[in-house]
Amino acid sequence: MHTMRKSAYKSGVAGKSNALKSAARARRFRRRLLAWYYAHKRDLPWRENRDPYRIWLSEIMLQQTRVAAVVGYYAKFLQRFPSVEKLAAAREESVLAAWSGLGYYRRARMLHAAAKVLVKAHGGIFPNTSEDLKKLPGIGRYTAAAIASIAFAQPVAVVDGNVERVLQRIAGREISGEHLWEEAQAILDPSQPGEFNQAMMELGATVCVPGQPLCHSCPVHSSCATRGPRQSAGKALRLRKREISYMLRRKSGSFFLVQRAKNAKLMPGMWELPELADKQFGKSKALLVLRHSITVTDYRVKVVEDITPEVVLNPSTGKWIQEGRLAQLPLTGLTRKILRSLKML
Ligand code: SF4
Repeated sequence: MHTMRKSAYKSGVAGKSNALKSAARARRFRRRLLAWYYAHKRDLPWRENRDPYRIWLSEIMLQQTRVAAVVGYYAKFLQRFPSVEKLAAAREESVLAAWSGLGYYRRARMLHAAAKVLVKAHGGIFPNTSEDLKKLPGIGRYTAAAIASIAFAQPVAVVDGNVERVLQRIAGREISGEHLWEEAQAILDPSQPGEFNQAMMELGATVCVPGQPLCHSCPVHSSCATRGPRQSAGKALRLRKREISYMLRRKSGSFFLVQRAKNAKLMPGMWELPELADKQFGKSKALLVLRHSITVTDYRVKVVEDITPEVVLNPSTGKWIQEGRLAQLPLTGLTRKILRSLKML
């Protein structure tokens, strides 16, 4: 038996939700939501079965990345590392290369570290409770609950951005912190926790969307206190703007790339085009200009070709890489984007 907070677990089993007021309303809500989910759920590759390895991988990839962007990477990653044993035995560089383009590379490093622990300490078998899953590297409260409920039917609720928005609109008020988890647990259908959790997230992702929700197609319309967008008290996030320039050097089918320092705070050990020192590229014409956003910064990225190497930052860490080898290297997302835009990858 896992050791989840007693109050949350109890309220989940009893179905006593503050937003839905009575057990009967909670039951109706669950029935309608699940019927809608079974009829309308998206056909996603990680929903094919309940293999905890596949579910874990999808949950980690989906953190900070949209479903549409994850689908292709997911299939390729599974092809390369079809089991937790194969992932544990891989070199870090290969794991990062397979992750390259998805961004937030710490996720890939933690995934790799957790695979090693799973194989070494658990014989490759996943723990089946959220409490035990949380002990693995890179698995937090949300991910542990998602794996435990979807793969092992443990009655434990998840809270992500989608669930938070749905819960707040249903309740018609701001709910935050631990209260969100308690409310999610109270609404959860303990007999089908994995499907119910996915149904809540699916509703938030496809119907109860940020901005203008599609209330006319909502299966739980009659349970909702808001039926429309809630007025947010928060201010819109302001992106910082920055200009950055890179150099593209190529000769006989090779590109000159540099490796980020192993102890760099961001994307350590990954390969990228050499960055140019500020405004030192003189009159060289930009080969490409694109925009790239990372967390709170909006970059205007210039790529210049054929420029004297002295203006390149850190040329000593650079190497000529054959074009055919690029796909095997852990490239930064921006470098991958640039090479793709130039049809070189
Ligand atoms: S009725 Fe509208 S606001 Fe309420 S849960 Fe459904 S989609 Fe969201």
